[in-house]
Amino acid sequence: MNDLITVRAHPHLITAACLIQCLDGILPALTMRRLRHDLPHANLADLTRLYRDGGLTSMPGLGAGGVQRIRETLAAAELIDPAERPGRRNTASAWHAVTGDCPVPCLYHLVSARPVNRLISELPHGNLNDVAALWHKGQLTDITGIGGTGIEQIRQALLNAGLIPPDRSANNNRTLV
Ligand SMILES: [Zn+2]
Ligand SMILES: [Zn+2]
Repeated sequence: MNDLITVRAHPHLITAACLIQCLDGILPALTMRRLRHDLPHANLADLTRLYRDGGLTSMPGLGAGGVQRIRETLAAAELIDPAERPGRRNTASAWHAVTGDCPVPCLYHLVSARPVNRLISELPHGNLNDVAALWHKGQLTDITGIGGTGIEQIRQALLNAGLIPPDRSANNNRTLV
């Protein structure tokens, strides 16, 4: 029952519906900063899924220690079996279904860091609907610092999220009907 101490010290019971922020004071500050940055609107159900998929082990900056603390926390909250070990699959992108309501940082697992950073500075409070709007207007390429590879990664991410049609490439072909 020693595992429960840190969770008990928390003002409320940790459940799958808890947001990442609920782990403040339970996980090390560095780990928290990393999780907040990479999983801006995740709850603990998402974190549990990501742990199981092995996605946490591939997240840069968490380190083995951070993953271990997350494991202990999830186990103490009875979200995973204490003996459970993360999978080996590298599926960081699958932690949740990306939608138009997602804030831009949700792209971090689908698109290289540099283009995402550029998008965030263009659309500080934007979501993926806003990115799709830029795409439709052909303005994505106007953002400096997003190279061709970045554009293609963003296009793929928007396409997979169903935010842009597969057959029209607004950025390369501005001829509209
Ligand atoms: Zn909570
Ligand atoms: Zn999201």
